Amino acid sequence: MKYDRIYNFSAGPSMLPEPVLEEIRDEFMNYQGSGMNVMEMSHRSKVFINIYEEAEADLRELMNIPSNYKVLFIQGGATLQFAMIPLNLMKNGVADYIVTGNWSNKAYSEAKKYGKINLVASSKDKNYSYIPDVSDLPISEDADYVYICENETIHGTTYRKLPNTKGKNLVSDQSSMFLSKPVNVSDYGLIYAGAQKNVGPAGVAIVIIREDLIRSDLDEKIPTYLRYDIHAENDSMYNTPNCWGIYVCGKVFKYLKKLGGLEVMHQLNIEKAKPLYDFLDNSKMFRGTVVKEDRSLMNVPFVTESAELDAEVVAASKAAGFDNLKGHKSVGGLRASIYNAMPKEGVEALVAFLKDFEAKHA
Ligand SMILES: *Cc1c(COP(=O)(O)O)cnc(C)c1O
Repeated sequence: MKYDRIYNFSAGPSMLPEPVLEEIRDEFMNYQGSGMNVMEMSHRSKVFINIYEEAEADLRELMNIPSNYKVLFIQGGATLQFAMIPLNLMKNGVADYIVTGNWSNKAYSEAKKYGKINLVASSKDKNYSYIPDVSDLPISEDADYVYICENETIHGTTYRKLPNTKGKNLVSDQSSMFLSKPVNVSDYGLIYAGAQKNVGPAGVAIVIIREDLIRSDLDEKIPTYLRYDIHAENDSMYNTPNCWGIYVCGKVFKYLKKLGGLEVMHQLNIEKAKPLYDFLDNSKMFRGTVVKEDRSLMNVPFVTESAELDAEVVAASKAAGFDNLKGHKSVGGLRASIYNAMPKEGVEALVAFLKDFEAKHA
């Protein structure tokens, strides 16, 4: 690989597209004639406002975001949204959560601090290895929203069909699938994503929220920074935003546009994941941990029959020039995160390595 880079299977922060890194390098000392690095410029300057506005416009175009949705860039990562969502969206003080893994569980635990939170479905019984049937859930009459994590980064599950929310607003954590495929924004009240899985540096969360959900009649004790209305009124510049993060995200948006948009990206992601899943389905040594119908195109957890052998594979993969293949402790085994920026060659190289390992240890 160019620059002696390696195939990095990290779950996040994770690989960025090489052309994006090259552009950033080229603009590093002098951003487009400004005489400054983007980190050095005022967020109120014309040149930065331009970066910001282009990033938002490009994202709107990529996702086909309707005009009655606001796009916000907020600091605090995806985790801060676990609290901001209940603090801002709960009018009745009631919300319904579907827990399908580590991240939706964290969001659920955080929300419980702020209201009556109902667990309407869970896949905990089988260590979150599937998505429960969400076609007819006991949605609460007075629920302010229904919450999902649409792609569980650690457990490797993804929704093929969104839950039937019975008219309630759907809130979705898309952190580890953001911009990996087209979504219909109008199906959601709020979509959010931490940037560092698929779009940029850690620290920025992108929030796409329908305007009627942005309220100003909130409890006065809610910290100013945690109010969507404040971010919306100030075009995400109530305080100094994560300028560098927004700049890099903007580069990735342009890269995806040039590639042909999200339909093209989705096809590439399908083609890319296929050799790995095909291998896992046929291997005698390795198996995927998620039921076939619900497995993610972005995060692929898999195991051997023993923790010892798992550890051996991880060590051998490192020696072979791969990185970050160790699975999360809650699932064990290995996990290959193959986000947008992972080239197909990276997955093919991994499969060749695993095949070879299996042959040698058979
Ligand atoms: C990584 C991740 C988070 C947490 O992101 P931070 O930016 O570290 O707060 C939340 N949800 C999902 C699905 C994630 O993958």
